Amino acid sequence: MPEPVADRPYEPVIGLEIHVQLATRTKMFCGCALSFGEEPNTRTCPVCLGHPGVLPTVNAQAVHFALMIGLALGCEIAPRSLFHRKNYFYPDLPKGYQISQYDVPLARNGALGDVRIHRVHLEEDAAKLVHAGASGRIHGAAGSVVDFNRGGTPLVEIVTEPDLRSAAEASEWLRLLRATLRRMGVSDVNMEEGSLRCDANVSIRPAGEATLGTKAELKNMNSFRFLQRGIDAEIARQEQVVRGGGTVTQETLHFDPVTGDISSLRSKEEAHDYRYFPEPDLVPLAPTEAMLSRADDALPELPAARAERLERDLELAPETARLLAFRGELGDFFEAAVAAANGGGDGAVAGPRALASWVTVELVPRLGDTEPTESPVTPEALAKLAGMVSAKAVSQSAAKQVLDVMAIDGGDPEALIVERGLGMAAADELGAIVDGAIEQNAAAVEQIRSGNEKAIGAIVGAVMRETKGRADGGEVQRMIRQRLTVDG
Ligand code: ADP
Ligand code: ZN
Ligand code: MG
Repeated sequence: MPEPVADRPYEPVIGLEIHVQLATRTKMFCGCALSFGEEPNTRTCPVCLGHPGVLPTVNAQAVHFALMIGLALGCEIAPRSLFHRKNYFYPDLPKGYQISQYDVPLARNGALGDVRIHRVHLEEDAAKLVHAGASGRIHGAAGSVVDFNRGGTPLVEIVTEPDLRSAAEASEWLRLLRATLRRMGVSDVNMEEGSLRCDANVSIRPAGEATLGTKAELKNMNSFRFLQRGIDAEIARQEQVVRGGGTVTQETLHFDPVTGDISSLRSKEEAHDYRYFPEPDLVPLAPTEAMLSRADDALPELPAARAERLERDLELAPETARLLAFRGELGDFFEAAVAAANGGGDGAVAGPRALASWVTVELVPRLGDTEPTESPVTPEALAKLAGMVSAKAVSQSAAKQVLDVMAIDGGDPEALIVERGLGMAAADELGAIVDGAIEQNAAAVEQIRSGNEKAIGAIVGAVMRETKGRADGGEVQRMIRQRLTVDG
């Protein structure tokens, strides 16, 4: 790397390695069911416990999911990919090696958004070490115990090219990847539970420099927030090292999200030598045409494409389109509301942009943590409410009160409006209220007459208070102006 100039900014460079637990019924190389918090060591067999003489068999569903992922990420699928043994000693690895793919992975050279995918490969997960605290005991045992239930769970590893340029970009891109995998139904993609795990490789270089700096790897970031904070902390650390005249060393790091500290797990010199060699008990993985087309047919419309379509065809703002597309259930709810509005016979209908705003701005905060499918508000009911606003049968603000009720108890918006007297104030009722408000706000009237247009707000506000929001603001302004203009 050339000499850094003191005031020359540094550019971060980030590449991600993501492990995805596949949502298959059984493990990668044996018939054991996947485990979801069962009693430790109840989902095991001689194969995943690494007993001598057993033979692995490849899980066809895992291969199918991996092919779907490879295709969804626009990769070339290898005609024959190979399984290798990756040797290392650790108590969570009973065989003494992990079956993984090495020099010929299942898929490579893809892209998701503007980040290139280096490779996608299949492997098996390790078991889980559970550490008891100083005084803790687990099932009567002190110290650390091993739960082999997780051992052998199918994993897909996705490796990006170093195409990300900030912590925020990395976390945003990981959200896109997560939404994509989730939409495909190939994984639970739960970062806290470890079904989606991310390592971040970070380096810096003087801005404009083409060669990459030496990278450090942050292991196992288990939330979007920690990923972003960890990368930012590591960028800051590297800048400090380089500005202090030092050089970044290649090492594996641990970011502690509680303290914000970064500590070294191992340096390049201590790096493992895995002594990879081909797994003699497995044939190469050669997907047939039928397997490839089955994987391709199983791909739904993916979030990136959906966001583009919503933006292009329904003219939604890019952020709104992304929000709906990345949260698939929300997108489904929105599209069902659009369909309901379009099929809703005559009368004023809310357009897609208005509906998108009702869903993302109004409904989402009222849902809290529940998915829209579990909420008592149906897409049809929301479309109807939004349509009544467009038809000026109910004011925007009264409609929000109606939605408050619907979000808790459900119900038909039209009936709720009648029942609670929330319909738009009728012309004669409104006329009288406007007259009253003008009378009671003489000062504001004076200001409007002397050219201060903004003073009209005080009178509109009074009318809105009096009607409890059951009036159209534009209409109220028009009525006030009409009454204050001498020749009407
Ligand atoms: P290794 O051989 O150390 O595993 P790889 O070349 O396989 O390194 O890359 C692993 C990950 O690190 C990839 O996601 C890649 O994009 C990223 N990466 C590689 N070099 C750099 C770098 N200089 N800065 C940031 N990320 C990098
Ligand atoms: Zn097993
Ligand atoms: Mg590597």
